[in-house]
Amino acid sequence: MTTTAKSAAKKPAAAKAGKKAAPVKSLRTADKLARLGLSTDMSLVLHLPMRYEDETRLHTIREASFLHGQAAQVEGVVTDCDVQYRPRRQLVVRLADDSGELVLRFLNFYGSQATQMATGKRLRVRGEVRHGFLGDEMVHPTVKSVEPDAPLPDALTPVYPAGEGLSQALLRKAIEGAMSRIRWDDTLPDALRESLSLMPFAPAVKLLHYPPPDVDEHALAERTHPAWIRMKFDELLAQQLSMKRAQAARRQQGAPVLAGPGALTAALLQVLPFSLTGAQERVLEEIRADISAPYPMQRLLQGDVGSGKTVVAALAAAQAIDNGYQAALMAPTEILAEQHFRKIAGWLEPLGVNVAWLTGSLKKRDKEDARTRIESGSTQLVVGTHALIQQDVDFAKLGLVIVDEQHRFGVAQRLTLRNKGVGSVPHQLMMSATPIPRTLAMTYYADLEVSVIDELPPGRTPIVTRLVAQERRDEVIARVHAAALEGRQVYWVCPLIEESEALQLQTATETHELLTAALPDLRVGLVHGRLKPAEKQMVMDAFARGELHLLVATTVIEVGVDVPNASLMVIEHAERFGLSQLHQLRGRVGRGAAASACLLMYQGPLGPVARQRLAIMRETNDGFEIARRDLEIRGPGEFLGARQSGQAMLRFADLETDQWLVEKARNVAQQLLTSEPEVADVHLARWLGAKEDYLRV
Ligand code: ADP
Ligand code: MG
Repeated sequence: MTTTAKSAAKKPAAAKAGKKAAPVKSLRTADKLARLGLSTDMSLVLHLPMRYEDETRLHTIREASFLHGQAAQVEGVVTDCDVQYRPRRQLVVRLADDSGELVLRFLNFYGSQATQMATGKRLRVRGEVRHGFLGDEMVHPTVKSVEPDAPLPDALTPVYPAGEGLSQALLRKAIEGAMSRIRWDDTLPDALRESLSLMPFAPAVKLLHYPPPDVDEHALAERTHPAWIRMKFDELLAQQLSMKRAQAARRQQGAPVLAGPGALTAALLQVLPFSLTGAQERVLEEIRADISAPYPMQRLLQGDVGSGKTVVAALAAAQAIDNGYQAALMAPTEILAEQHFRKIAGWLEPLGVNVAWLTGSLKKRDKEDARTRIESGSTQLVVGTHALIQQDVDFAKLGLVIVDEQHRFGVAQRLTLRNKGVGSVPHQLMMSATPIPRTLAMTYYADLEVSVIDELPPGRTPIVTRLVAQERRDEVIARVHAAALEGRQVYWVCPLIEESEALQLQTATETHELLTAALPDLRVGLVHGRLKPAEKQMVMDAFARGELHLLVATTVIEVGVDVPNASLMVIEHAERFGLSQLHQLRGRVGRGAAASACLLMYQGPLGPVARQRLAIMRETNDGFEIARRDLEIRGPGEFLGARQSGQAMLRFADLETDQWLVEKARNVAQQLLTSEPEVADVHLARWLGAKEDYLRV
C-alpha cells in the first residue's frame, strides 16, 4: 500500500486504515462530508470526479523533461535531500533514474517529508517539469514512497470536487468505502434501458470513478461519454419524476372552490376606466377555471412590462372575495406594494371591499391593527411586502395568494405565504415580467401552469430607444429640459455600481445635485433604496402627481412603478446593466399615449457582450424576444438566477446542451408513473434521498 507524503504526515489515522474502508467514523470528517451534501453512501457514490490524474504510466526523467506543460509521473531514487535557506527556506531533493536527474523543490514542507525523501529512498512523483536555473525541476510534486517494482494503478486517479479541509485522499477513501457497501441494482428495467440505448448503472458509475487508461478522455471531460449520459439521464429522470409527483400531491390537497364570476367581479369590471384586452380576458378565464377547482392552483402569469397584470390580479382577488375568502397580494418592494395598494384600493374600496396595507415600515400600532383585522377576517384583501409572511400574521380565511414579480422571492418565501391557509391550501398566482421561454418553463416548472399576456393595452406608442455616448451628456440634459417644458416627465437612472451600495448612493446624490444645478428651472427629485419608506413614498407621490419634472433614481424604480405621464428615460452607464434589467427599467416609460423615448448613455469602448446587449435594446421592445436573446448570451442558469434555477439542483445535466435528454426523461417519467410506479419509487429514492424538498416549486 502506498501513502502520500502529506496525508501520512497530517492524517495518520486515515492513511493507515485497512484496505476495505470502514464507514466514515470521525465526526469531523462526517461533518465536512455532510457540508458537501455527502451524508449517505449513495450520495458519496454519486459524487463524481471533475477530472483525473493519469498515474497508470511512468515516464523516464528524460521523457518527462520534454513533456512541456503536461504532468508526468517518474520514479527514481533520492540522491540528495537538503534543506536550503537561500533565497528562502526550502526542501530540495535530487531524484535520479537511469535516464537522468531531476530536482524536487518544496517551499512549504513538514519535517516528516524530509524523512520520507531521505537519500536512498525510492519515490514515485507526479508533477510538471520546469526548466529551472539549476536544471530540470518539479515544484511541489505529489510524492509516494514505493518499493521497487511496485505495481502501477490500472485506472486513472479521480480528482473530486472537494470542500474546505477535505483532502482528495480522504474523499477517495470515503467514496471507495461507499462503493463497497451500496447495492448496485439498476433502477431501470433492462428492456427500457436498452430501448433508450443507455449504459447500465453499475459499469457507468465505476467507469466514471476509475476510468481505464485507454478511455476517451475528451468524452469524459466534455461529459459526452455514455457513462456520463447515463448519469445525466438518471438525474433528469429523478427531477421529472419528482416534479410530476409534486404536481400529483398538490392535486390531493384541498383548496377552496372559488366559483364565479360573482357580483363584485362584475362591479369591478364596470368601474374600470378601460376594457380588458383579449389577452387579459383569456388569462383571466384560465385563472378562473383553476380557482374554481377543489385543488390549489399554481399558475405563473407572464406578461411583458406594461401588459396589465395588476388588473388581472385584482379581478382574481375579487372572485375570491365574492366567495367569502380573503386574498393577499405580496410585492417585493415597498414602492411597488404601495402602488398596488393605491391602485387596487382605488378600484375596490368604493365597491365596499376592506383593503389593508401591511409592510415592515408601518408603525407598530398600525401593524397590530392590520394584523387584528386580517385575523378577524374583516380585511378582505391585504397588499404588502415580505411583512405578509411574518410568523405573527394569521389569516382568517385565506383563499388566494398573489405574488408579484415572483422571481424576486425565494421558493421558501412563496411557500410560507401559501401555508397561511387554514384547513385548506390557498390558490397561488405568481406574476412575472421576466418572460421565461417556453422550453425552459417546461423543464423548470413542470409543476406550474403558465399563462401569458401577449398583447399590450391599446393606444401605446412604441418606445424609441437611442444609444448615446457619455460624451454627449450635455445634449441629453438639453433634451430633458425640452421634454419637461413640453409637460412631460423624465426618469434619470443612475449607474449600477455592483461592488458598493454606498458608492451607488453617492453617485445618485451627486447626479441629483448636478442636474439640479444644470436645470435650475425644473423641479428635480431623488429616490434611492436608503430613503425611509415614508420619504420614498413622498417623492414617488410628488412625481406621480406631476409636481416633479425629473426624478433621479437608482434601480429601486426598476420594478413595476407606473407613472403614465413619464415619457422620457435616461439610463446612465447602460453598459453596466443586464438585458432584463434594462428592459424592466425602460418599461417605466411608454405607459401613456405620448411617444416615449429611452436614452441609453454608455461609456465606450464597449466590450462585445455590452455592445450586443445595447444593440438588442435598440432593436426591439418585445420582452419575449429580449429574453430569448438574453438566454442565448447567458445560458439558462444565470438567466433565471441561482435561487430558482432548476440548474441549481442539477449537478450533471446541462439544460442547454442536454435538452434532448430532458425530452426523453420527461417521456419516461410519464410512462413510469402510469405503468410502473414502483420503478419510479426506487429511482427517486436513489437520486433524491433527502433532497426532495428542493424540488418543490
Ligand atoms: P404590468 O403588467 O407591467 O404590471 P400594469 O398592470 O402596471 O402592468 O399596467 C400598466 C398600465 O396599463 C396601468 O396604468 C394599467 O392601469 C393600464 N392598463 C391595464 N390594462 C389595460 C387595458 N386593458 N386597457 C388600457 N390600459 C390598461
Ligand atoms: Mg406590475
